[in-house]
Amino acid sequence: MKILCIGRNYSEHAKELNNPLPKKPIFFTKTDSSILKNGKPFFIPDFSNEIHYETELVLKISRLGKHIDEKFADRYFNEIGIGIDFTARDLQRECKAKGLPWEIAKAFDNSAPLGKFLPKNRFKDMGDINFHLDINGEPAQKGNSKDLIFSFNHLISYLSRFFTLKTGDLIFTGTPAGVGPVKKNDRLQAYIEDELLLDFMVK
Ligand code: ZN
Repeated sequence: MKILCIGRNYSEHAKELNNPLPKKPIFFTKTDSSILKNGKPFFIPDFSNEIHYETELVLKISRLGKHIDEKFADRYFNEIGIGIDFTARDLQRECKAKGLPWEIAKAFDNSAPLGKFLPKNRFKDMGDINFHLDINGEPAQKGNSKDLIFSFNHLISYLSRFFTLKTGDLIFTGTPAGVGPVKKNDRLQAYIEDELLLDFMVK
């Protein structure tokens, strides 16, 4: 399976990192060893002094597809979850400055904690899903899919021009504003609407 991740898909987040708004989706990948499941702790890696959380809605691809028309894209996923796109911001800055790929800053082991998925039919409108992250019980980040620059269907259609989408592939749909660092002993709890779907410790 593969993990495709979208960058700068919320305008307020692009602004907070001083990035221009994209005209096309910007994407990068994580690896299968990026996944951290079942509430296992995340250990801060020794190669970074600045690990940021990015809380994101995640689509789980449910059928094989290539060159998917945007009109039919919603047939290609039937579950939505929440995940953290952990980012070694210090390494990412270095990569960006040198014009290098970001993967060491994004795709390292356990950089993608994933919560439980919910069936898509739980939601009336894909363009109006609230989600949020609490750290140590305090609000840290919140978003709503209505603020996406590129919709779920657009992302699926666009990505499928380059990559065959397969059952079980994941799409991290981008983070809203409010990213920030984590530190040892933080407890991260991520919700879609009012449902707690991801709950783990930073060690
Ligand atoms: Zn992200």
